[in-house]
Amino acid sequence: MEQQDFWKWAEAEAQRSGSAATVGRLDLSELPSDLRLSVPEIQTFHTALCERIGRLELVLTDNRRRMVSVHKKKDGRHRLRAHHMFVGCDRDTIEALVQLMKGGDDIEQARQAIKNYITRNRDEISFDVDPDELEALGEYHNLQALLDQWREELGSDELADVVITWGRYGRGRRTIRFGSYDFDRKLIRIHPALDQQWVPSFFVEFIVYHELLHALFPPIEASSRRVVHTSEFRQMEEKFPRYEEAMAWERRHLPRFLGDG
Ligand SMILES: [Zn+2]
Repeated sequence: MEQQDFWKWAEAEAQRSGSAATVGRLDLSELPSDLRLSVPEIQTFHTALCERIGRLELVLTDNRRRMVSVHKKKDGRHRLRAHHMFVGCDRDTIEALVQLMKGGDDIEQARQAIKNYITRNRDEISFDVDPDELEALGEYHNLQALLDQWREELGSDELADVVITWGRYGRGRRTIRFGSYDFDRKLIRIHPALDQQWVPSFFVEFIVYHELLHALFPPIEASSRRVVHTSEFRQMEEKFPRYEEAMAWERRHLPRFLGDG
């Protein structure tokens, strides 16, 4: 559940090569860690916008419900929150994003152009899960059984179409994220490092439970910040029968997952 820091690295890389002083801040912290996007491509997108509008704070998101939003700061600079599908977009779409930030008479036209871009490229963002890609049966732990058990226990219709799979090993070992929840695909991914004999079943169960709660308690946007683990979420999480034990187990064994223990 620790934050992946691949994007922090990518952000620092992009800031350095693009000089944050001239193009403005770039925020990649909301992107999922297993997303494949190249840093130079992000940089090109950011720079192309800045050439037209000046220093710009760009926040790339994975938010499919709110693909684009614009905020003008007190000092007159802009902050653009945009779905990562815009990285690599054509010149006209860049122009439309700029018009959207500037406001004025062309704004309706700009909105339409952005909508068209989203429609044209929507197919590239698949909302469907390919059942062949799901692998819930591990060598030591059966995720499907754990999911079914808790789905029944929690008894909510919201959970009916949630699916689960073991994830793949990603880059970097300085942090580890045991599970993630993809809201659009309703897909829980569990880190493959948990499929080991020395990892007790109750701990895997706790991670599955945690991710399942994300489906029940979606994030809230509070004064432009996104709160993923709300207080209701945390209260419910503590109701896990072996909560304290799971937390203690995680603390004790984290170094072993990171290869230092
Ligand atoms: Zn979480």
